[in-house]
Amino acid sequence: MLKTRFTELFGVAHPIVQGGMQWVGCAELVSAVANAGALGFLTALTQPTPEALEKEIARTRSMTDKPFGVNLTILPTINPVPYDEYRRVVIEAGIKIVETAGNNPAPHLPAFKEAGIKVIHKCTSVRHAVKAQSIGVDAVSIDGFECAGHPGEDDVPGLILIPAAADKIGIPMIASGGFGDARGLVAALALGADCINMGTRFMATKEAPIHQKIKEAIVANDERSTNLIFRTLHNTARVAKNAVSDEVVAIEKRGATFEDVKSLVAGQRGRRAIETGDVDGGVWSAGMIQGLIHDIPSCEELVTRIVREAEEIIRTKLGHLLAN
Ligand code: NAD
Repeated sequence: MLKTRFTELFGVAHPIVQGGMQWVGCAELVSAVANAGALGFLTALTQPTPEALEKEIARTRSMTDKPFGVNLTILPTINPVPYDEYRRVVIEAGIKIVETAGNNPAPHLPAFKEAGIKVIHKCTSVRHAVKAQSIGVDAVSIDGFECAGHPGEDDVPGLILIPAAADKIGIPMIASGGFGDARGLVAALALGADCINMGTRFMATKEAPIHQKIKEAIVANDERSTNLIFRTLHNTARVAKNAVSDEVVAIEKRGATFEDVKSLVAGQRGRRAIETGDVDGGVWSAGMIQGLIHDIPSCEELVTRIVREAEEIIRTKLGHLLAN
């Protein structure tokens, strides 16, 4: 067992998080992650309405009696999102852990705190982590440039970002972006984090509610198989390299507004692609960690393996360095 400030604060067995993942963070995956002793998050905006989120929370509870949370991501969207309604559902459902991401969580924090909810804020820079700490979040998740989804605009990889944040942050810290195995977990702990977050790695598990062909594509892909889209719109997103994301990058190079790429990047199109296994059918998030993903285990197998191998690395490989 690896005991850290994270496992203590959130009451989970292992220092591993499955954070928000649009179209993937549903009951099947979140409950499997929870049952494996890690902390899973339902992605609120994957549910089309706040009422649907309420049902998904109930469905997850029917599949696990372990703790899990809800991710609320606040980024530009094609259609307006009733964030306050999603927040109300989370509180009324009795959820006790929330991951906020994408924007300053301040407008939502008082209501969450009043409801006794622990808030983890996911951010991509030291300054935003410091700000989140100062307004009272319980933990920060710091997302390096390697990550899938939105890495921010500073392009600082985890090897620098995590210790730079650790120097400034007193509350528990989750290292995110580029994690998928025991080596990453031990490295994150050495860099000053208390836990790792994995997204793409959890997509390639038996329980992830996406098509087998997408899981196999992640296994086949290497660390170079991503594209950065929306660079020119200051809403950078790292997604799997495919025909559609290549086209978006080419259009942006010529100079584009969001309208010029909207039909290619629409989340609903990406959702269809990962649900039907049409690898080139739309834009779907994936990180550089694809280069270190070689199988499709169950969540239980994955979490158990990472923790067992991390203990071996610490005890044997690193321990021997001291002994000799
Ligand atoms: P969507 O269909 O509304 O938009 C598709 C993509 O275009 C998203 O990446 C969005 O940020 C971007 N976008 C939309 N309008 C834009 C604009 N005017 N300028 C620049 N970029 C714009 O998105 P969706 O798939 O329905 O997802 C809803 C939201 O949840 C998105 O913001 C998405 O990024 C976010 N989300 C991200 C993660 C993650 O990064 N891991 C997890 C959960 C949710």
